[in-house]
This record gives sequence, C-alpha cells and structure tokens, in this order.
Amino acid sequence: MGHTGAMKIARVESFRVVAHRDYEGSAGLRAATTQSGVRGHHPRVLARNDGRHLCVYPAQAEVLLVRIVTDDGLVGWGEAHAPPIPRVAQALITDLLAPQLIGRDPRAIDAHWEAMYASMRLRGYAGGVMLEAMAGVDIALWDLLGKALGQPVYRLLGGPFRTRIPCYLSGVPGESVDDRIVAALDFVNDGFTAVKISVGRGPLDEDLEAAASVIHAVWGEADVLVDAHGAYDTRTAVAAGRRLERAGAAWFEDPLPPEDVEGYAALCAALDLPVANGETECTRWQFNDKLSRRAADIILPDICRAGGISEGRKIAVIADVHNVRWCVHASISTPIHLAAGLHLAAATPNFLLCEYPQAFRTTPLANDLVEVPLRPVDGHLDVSDAPGLGITLVAEEVQALSLDRIDWIA
Ligand SMILES: [Mg+2]
Repeated sequence: MGHTGAMKIARVESFRVVAHRDYEGSAGLRAATTQSGVRGHHPRVLARNDGRHLCVYPAQAEVLLVRIVTDDGLVGWGEAHAPPIPRVAQALITDLLAPQLIGRDPRAIDAHWEAMYASMRLRGYAGGVMLEAMAGVDIALWDLLGKALGQPVYRLLGGPFRTRIPCYLSGVPGESVDDRIVAALDFVNDGFTAVKISVGRGPLDEDLEAAASVIHAVWGEADVLVDAHGAYDTRTAVAAGRRLERAGAAWFEDPLPPEDVEGYAALCAALDLPVANGETECTRWQFNDKLSRRAADIILPDICRAGGISEGRKIAVIADVHNVRWCVHASISTPIHLAAGLHLAAATPNFLLCEYPQAFRTTPLANDLVEVPLRPVDGHLDVSDAPGLGITLVAEEVQALSLDRIDWIA
C-alpha cells in the first residue's frame, strides 16, 4: 500500500529543541577552552597549544528539528545540526527554503535539493549553516517519502547492504587518565569494540601518554580512535601520529585544521595509521576536492550538516570512487540525526562505523524523545524496518523541550 495520487507540501516548520527550558541563547555560550582547557605547563615552546582550534559550545544541548506536512496530512521529520545557532538555520528555513517548497510535490527530493542549493549558490553559500538547514529539510523529505510509500528509507536508497550497523562510543569522558580508563572499560563491558578519545586540549606529551594508557587498557577488546580537533601543524601531527601508531591507535581524526588540505595529503602519505576527517565539509564538491588530493583515508560526513541524506549518498559514492570508507558523524544530536545516518549506512557499500555520542546515554535530548530508544547492543544499532526513518517522536517530551510552539499532528 502506498500513496500514488497528487501530493503537495503544505507546511515547512522548524523547532528549536534544547535540553533545558531555561536556555537563554547566546548568554549560555561557553568556550571549549573552559571545559578541560588549554592547561598545564609545557616546556617546549614550539609545542605550545594556543587553543585557536577550539569551537564554542552551547551551554545546553540544542538542535533544530524540521517538520514537513503535506496537504493530506502526511508528516516527515528532519534535523539540522546547527550548534550553537539553530535560530540561524531556522531563519533560513522560514525565509528562504520554505517559500520554495510550499505547494510542490515532496517526492521530487533531488529536484528540491538542487533548487535550494541553487538559490544561494552564486552568493557563496556552499557550506555551514546553509547546508545544515538544507540537511534538515532533505531528511524530512526522505522520512515523508518513506511514509508515503510504506517503506524504510534504506530500501528507497537501494539497500540494505546491512541492517546491523557497527557503532563506536564517542568520546570517553574523564579528567584524569584513570577516570578515562575506567570509563573506556565500562563501554567495552557494554559491548562496544571501538571507543574514541580526545587529544589536542592539553600539552602534547601528556595527551599522547594518556591516549597510550587507554589503548593499553582495552587492548585486544576494543579499537581506540583518537580525535585531535584540528590542534596541530603538519610536523607535530606526523610526530604525534607515529607515536599513536606505535601505541596501537586505530585512527587519527582531525589532527590538522580543516583548511590545511596539503598538510592532510602529506600526513596521509607519511603515516600507516589511517587519517580521518570531514565533519567540517559539506557537499559532493568539497569532499571530492579533499579526496582527489588524497587528504583523507576515512571520511566522517555529518548527515545533518553536509546536506542531508541526498547529499550524503553522493558523498559516499565520491568516497567509493577514491576507495575510501565513510563513517556517520554525530555529536549534539537527537535520534533523528542518528536514524538518518543509519539508513544511509545500511544503503551504501563503503560504510565503516557510526558514531554513538556518549551524551546520548544521559541527555534528555536523545532517547527520551522517541518511543523506541536507540541503544546499541554488542556495539551495534539495528536500522528500523518501519516506514520512513522509523522514528516515532514522543509528543509531550519534544514539546516540553521546544522553545517554539508545536501544534502536534499525529
Ligand atoms: Mg571529531
């Protein structure tokens, strides 16, 4: 049974959803440097960490959810990954994208994607919040199409290659090395066979020794992925990468600032350890540029930033052309974000791993919002077989966390 008649988009709405109701916008911003900080004394002046690479984070977890409603009452949900400025993505949707979509057939997803992108293309809007807003709309259109046809999104994409999606836990919390080892072992006991730790916020030697201690503690049971958040220059990254290689790390993520593409190509050539990056990039063009220059061994597109499921599929094909595998990136995310990643993971041959944010276990922005929580078993998540993304939101929970009024539609 599926919808075959005429269908029109009646409404394109978006809702800022935050983990606490008393969130006060930019007043809540905090610099990442204050979390674990650019701290400690380091005797080598060339290795000094000035913190220029660190992002600011919202004080509370926040996302922008997108809802598209048809004239006959079908509903699709999407998500834009837009911390800490979901209000900006919301303005783009309200003022720019919704007027292009109202009255159109929601099923022509590729055509809508191209039209939305074209609308600001010559003005240079090729990434960032523009593509985050488009991603939210695109994901909602796929959810809607799946519901209209009575099929899970992965089947509409030509899958599945797999329905059990391997995940890694990201990232291992703790101020001290001992805290991090205890946390990592806890995740391994929970069934994860890969965990991610951060470096790049403290002195280099201290960071690398801590990484080596965690790798040693879970050796033989889990791979340890190391994320440096763009902290280093090429020479430091090569040296750090060689030490991590000897310690047995499984990948080295974002060792360089994203703009240093030549640096990445040199680093990929110098190390045996795979170099992973790509959470910054959007669209087929940006990934093709990076991959053509051999500047990544593994890419980490964020489906809610890089342009949605439509563009994620094209990025996966580009990666496959270059014999590179891709992973789902997630961070401040709801189950809609994760589900969009899982469907694409199920439907692409060169998928490797899905990021499962540690915060997903604690924040009310995650599993509290859905009827069936996304909790990995033995380090895997099953992609839903239900129509669309297969996510059913709990109206009261979403409404309670939304800064915008939601008139609920069943
Ligand atoms: Mg990262």
